[in-house]
Amino acid sequence: MTTASGFADLGLSVAVQKALSRIGYEQPSPIQAASIPHILAGKDILGTAQTGTGKTAAFALPTLSRINLKDASPQVLVLAPTRELAIQVAEAFQNYASDLKGFHVLPIYGGSSMSNQLRMLKRGVHVIVGTPGRVMDHMRRGTLKLDNLQTVVLDEADEMLRMGFIDDINWILEHKPDACQVALFSATMPRPIRKVAETYLKDPQEVKIESETATVERITQRYWKAVGTHKLDALTRILEVEDFDGVIIFVRTKTLTVELADKLEARGHSAAAINGDMSQQLRERTIEQLKSGKIDILVATDVAARGIDVTRVSHVVNYDIPYDTEAYVHRIGRTGRAGRDGNAILFVAPRERRMLRAIEQATRQVITPMELPSREQVQERRIDQFKDELDKAMTADLKEFNHIVEQFRQQRDASAEQVAAALLYLIQQDKPLILPEPSKPERNRRNDESIGFEDRPPREKRERQPRPDFDGQPIAMERFRIAVGRDHQVKPGDIVGAIANEADLSSAYIGHIKLHDDYSTVDLPAGMPKEVQDLLKGVRVRNQPLQLQSEGPADDFIPGAPKPRRPGRPGGKGGKHQRHQSGGRGEGRSGRDSGGERRHSRGKPRG
Ligand code: AMP
Repeated sequence: MTTASGFADLGLSVAVQKALSRIGYEQPSPIQAASIPHILAGKDILGTAQTGTGKTAAFALPTLSRINLKDASPQVLVLAPTRELAIQVAEAFQNYASDLKGFHVLPIYGGSSMSNQLRMLKRGVHVIVGTPGRVMDHMRRGTLKLDNLQTVVLDEADEMLRMGFIDDINWILEHKPDACQVALFSATMPRPIRKVAETYLKDPQEVKIESETATVERITQRYWKAVGTHKLDALTRILEVEDFDGVIIFVRTKTLTVELADKLEARGHSAAAINGDMSQQLRERTIEQLKSGKIDILVATDVAARGIDVTRVSHVVNYDIPYDTEAYVHRIGRTGRAGRDGNAILFVAPRERRMLRAIEQATRQVITPMELPSREQVQERRIDQFKDELDKAMTADLKEFNHIVEQFRQQRDASAEQVAAALLYLIQQDKPLILPEPSKPERNRRNDESIGFEDRPPREKRERQPRPDFDGQPIAMERFRIAVGRDHQVKPGDIVGAIANEADLSSAYIGHIKLHDDYSTVDLPAGMPKEVQDLLKGVRVRNQPLQLQSEGPADDFIPGAPKPRRPGRPGGKGGKHQRHQSGGRGEGRSGRDSGGERRHSRGKPRG
């Protein structure tokens, strides 16, 4: 087995390196290269990094490299804001630990069976990934002992703050062993997070990936919000209607270069993969094929595509978002060469939207949103292409064929149009000219995208919900009554946490909460699917089932944030952040005198 060469110098354990080469990572992302040596050396670390930069591996790889498998007590504790992220991070650990025999990681979060968690904890686990509330519960009960803990990781610390977990985090950090290393990752560094860092991090190494600005002229940049449609389907639809010559598609792993190239070939494109596993000679030969038009599409990793200079590349598709803005600029620089115009398309999942804004700033250009081509557009395009082919065929010598058609027409007493249509029908079967109407769920999904309640894929597969600021649209709210109130010692934060985790709903969507004695009201986006409402009915807060009941439209809405900002203005400080810092769970806890209310600031979002 080859080793993941780019990782070889970082000092990771052999087992972890083996897993990496199997997974297909070629080189560490900038945040990984900067963090791994420090974490391996046992230093505390303060990392400014967002989702999509590879930060999970930045802490998982070095902590796994230091795990003592013989000691079945928790050695690493990762705190994450939501159950979704906890599960994702636990899965990542499992994946990177595939060569560590007997390794156990346990995700723990509210809403999942306590008895299961207790059984697993008893059996012994090396890594715990949990939401702060549930971790604290276990610590208090004595079912989670942290005596042998080596590292605590705070993942998406600013998000945990927004969700009102700051008190829990402080409590947990107070109870960790003194010598325990702390790694804090956050996309932004609001004051309370800085304070946590000052209090609990000893001489931390600050890791920040600076991005330089660069101009990219002659390149039209667009992004597609990757929600509701599978990325591969989206890509094939785009390739159907875009006028392209040569295309380079960027993905993150070697494995995916091959997989995607195969899938595109199967869909009728001439595509090839290029990655760091291939010899220089083979790489050059493949690039030559792109140059000569033998292939049209190259599926590449960043490493393999460095410096490619092929004039006919009209499009660069960022199928996986790059880790940093520099990589983006390198990637799209593969098009728009030799004075030609270029096109760059970026797929952005909701959770990656911060990177999109960072790229806009770095390139000082607005990246415009694009819709996926509609069924009608694809159909129209196919018919046009067909007509072109027909035009060409009309110039051929058709005498003999004319004769067959004429004979057939007379024998069957059919018109020329009928025969032509029947021939057309036969010819188009591999690539239909008339596309079927989308099925109902697909239609619904498209309509629901802006709200974030699309047809729900299995829980593990779900992305966290997009925030309202992705669209900039205000969201209508509905008021719900829930059967838990002050009498049950409930705090607004408990309600936010339970609903956010159980309904898989970003806290940004949870509106005004008002506590009464034996019930409360909470505003949620109008039109939640019944299944989500049913699920929420049974969710328990302070041991009370919520018994969610609609009280009709709320006189409330979640304001949208502005559309993509013009570059040059600082980003990441939308009204939403301030809104939640001042109205989130944390304040709800200490601010009982505010009547136990949680409010969105109304009116114009700042930003
Ligand atoms: P994260 O920022 O941790 O959410 O990671 C984002 C994605 O990047 C995940 O799908 C990882 O599997 C992938 N990833 C992380 N590190 C690397 C790497 N060095 N090479 C390729 N893909 C990576």
